[in-house]
Amino acid sequence: MPDKSTSSEVTQAAAPETVSAARKIYPIVKYGDSILEKPTTPIKKFDAELEQLSEDMFASMYAAQGVGLAAPQIGLNLRLAVVDVTGGKNPEAKIVLANPEIIHAEGEKREEEGCLSIPGFRGYVLRPQFVTVKAQNAKGESFEIRGEDLLARAFCHEIDHLNGILFIQHLSMLKRDLIKRKIKKLRKQGEW
Ligand SMILES: [Zn+2]
Repeated sequence: MPDKSTSSEVTQAAAPETVSAARKIYPIVKYGDSILEKPTTPIKKFDAELEQLSEDMFASMYAAQGVGLAAPQIGLNLRLAVVDVTGGKNPEAKIVLANPEIIHAEGEKREEEGCLSIPGFRGYVLRPQFVTVKAQNAKGESFEIRGEDLLARAFCHEIDHLNGILFIQHLSMLKRDLIKRKIKKLRKQGEW
């Protein structure tokens, strides 16, 4: 978990190892912000800053108890997302997706889905049961990864985000309009 006291620039005495552990927790952008519905810009520069951003995105995602987070959800127009379906329990399950693309999809599965940017609302979305994604990691190295069930769903959900698509766009118009009306009401009440 982040240590808020380390955000100050005064602590020259801190050892480099402890500095790297200080993570920035970004607030999550909510539905209604236009950045969530715009396609993102591909990443061209892979540097220490991008690695740090990826780690901050994991920290922000864990803080919000999500299993995936896309850059537009923290207000950045970048083709970058992070996924960890173990919720931080297994460090090896952390996946950085820079410039990801789905190169193969198979099967179908209908499961309930939610989104950190649309808190409190869920809906059943049909997704492929298996997907293969081609992407780059935070260092710019290309890789392919196959996901099944929840992992496949998370890949699809996050890549949708990078294309400006939200899960409610996969719901029936009736269900989507109901959610939009409820959000409108919440916004009027100052609760969104
Ligand atoms: Zn989402």
